[in-house]
Amino acid sequence: MPLSASTPSPLGLVHSVESCGTVDGPGVRFVLFLSGCSLRCRYCHNPDTSFVRRGKERSAEDVLEEISRYAAFMKAAGGGVTISGGDPLFQPHFTRAILRGCKEQGLHTCIDTSGHLGVNVDDAMLADIDLVLLDIKAWNPEVYQSLVKQPLQPTLDFAERLAAAGKPVWLRYVLVPGITDNPADVEKLARYAAGLGNVQRVDVLPFHQIGRYKWEELGLDYTLADVEPPEQALTDSIRSIFRANGFADCTY
Ligand code: SF4
Repeated sequence: MPLSASTPSPLGLVHSVESCGTVDGPGVRFVLFLSGCSLRCRYCHNPDTSFVRRGKERSAEDVLEEISRYAAFMKAAGGGVTISGGDPLFQPHFTRAILRGCKEQGLHTCIDTSGHLGVNVDDAMLADIDLVLLDIKAWNPEVYQSLVKQPLQPTLDFAERLAAAGKPVWLRYVLVPGITDNPADVEKLARYAAGLGNVQRVDVLPFHQIGRYKWEELGLDYTLADVEPPEQALTDSIRSIFRANGFADCTY
């Protein structure tokens, strides 16, 4: 339903925006990074905005006005709008309003989410999403719980709902040596993704230490200090598992 004079524009906590993003969905994109997340990933590179409520409070109307200035350019560049974070489903009312407003502007929409809060997506909101970047952090439920401090099942439930709806998904998988590099688990994830039928590509993202200093600044216990980024050979071998399951475009 369009916002009207009698409907206050939802407020959201916005960490930042990027007007010419090229890695969070197809084409050139306006990327909106929202604050807050339900997971506590041990490798999170934005704990300053994901774990604590930091950001600038903005109305959906204000953000949509900013987006409208780039709309013609994004359409010409085959892009659109991606809502990332944090996790956009942590602020579902705000995200819903942004998605609706983007569709009213004729823009392609995408959310980047772990899917843990997939229950926050109602059918009307789902209809306004053109693509989901779905981060499945690990296949083994115990590894998942240990890595992100939440259960895996809600993410799988959301993945299966997206599949049933035929909603395009790009799957993202962060490769952490010694934690998410078990080939047997990756094989199971790759088969699962192939079986869903709506996963268009898989991006294997090598773990890095870029956010480490933020953990230290916040006085948080960073448990991956001794973990090195994966060797290229390991990254290649994990990507090859996805390729063997039909995902030809699985680099980043
Ligand atoms: S899902 Fe993303 S934003 Fe949330 S804690 Fe994990 S890495 Fe950080």
